[in-house]
Amino acid sequence: MILSPLLLSLIVSAFSPPKIASSPARPTTKYKAARHWNAPARYRGVSTRTPPRYFTEKVCALTFDDGPSRQITPSILKILKQENVPATFFVMGSMVSENGDLLKKEVAAGYAIGIHTYDHRTHPTRGQASREMSWCEAGLIKTLGAKQQTWLFRSPFGNTKSAYTREALARGYANILWSNSSADTATHSASVVYNNVVSNIEPGQVIICHDSEGKRHTVNALANVIRGLRKKGYTFVTVPVLLQKWDAVASHPPTPKKKIEKKVLSIKLQVLR
Ligand SMILES: [Zn+2]
Repeated sequence: MILSPLLLSLIVSAFSPPKIASSPARPTTKYKAARHWNAPARYRGVSTRTPPRYFTEKVCALTFDDGPSRQITPSILKILKQENVPATFFVMGSMVSENGDLLKKEVAAGYAIGIHTYDHRTHPTRGQASREMSWCEAGLIKTLGAKQQTWLFRSPFGNTKSAYTREALARGYANILWSNSSADTATHSASVVYNNVVSNIEPGQVIICHDSEGKRHTVNALANVIRGLRKKGYTFVTVPVLLQKWDAVASHPPTPKKKIEKKVLSIKLQVLR
């Protein structure tokens, strides 16, 4: 088959990553980040995995990495809608460039979005990491518009030392890892996914799942996971909402019991004197 030059150039441009001359500055003032995709100051520029020590509210955040994928993401969205549960999607730039319509659906449903790099390399150089972050930022702006930016990031493989993480933290992102793993990349069993999440749940956890190709078992487990967590008294929020709750507890930790007992004792002693 002979392709016309016009058709050939269209095909080539469709498969090329967005062209960016240099790393653009983050749109901090002109394009203010939507509040619900932001993170409190204490979580910006650092990696965070667990809720603060005295966090007791039975609330958790479902997160999905590596999408959006044509094969799995629509099923995940359908279940989340049916169960009326919010989620957070840490999307890959390369997937967004192919499946921008699915990203738009996630946003329209009120879910939160974070960046999970463009190519998900195991050992990126700092230069590659910088270029990929810029491609991701440009891709989100292109697909969602300038007002829907995010300060949420998740490093591939949870690697807090990689060039990706260093680049994201330098740009002021909050690197949000997980404290509860479905381990859906290590199994094909929906019941294993269910058990991994539900039997290990604790207040304030971030739960990691994947909506990349081949995660049918995650789809098959999801409704039961949600119901199992509800049965244990848990409600669901997006990551930005969870971070606000973490921040509130971290800002006002409850007075330790020992301190209170000591104070009561000193008051009693004063009365006795
Ligand atoms: Zn990943």
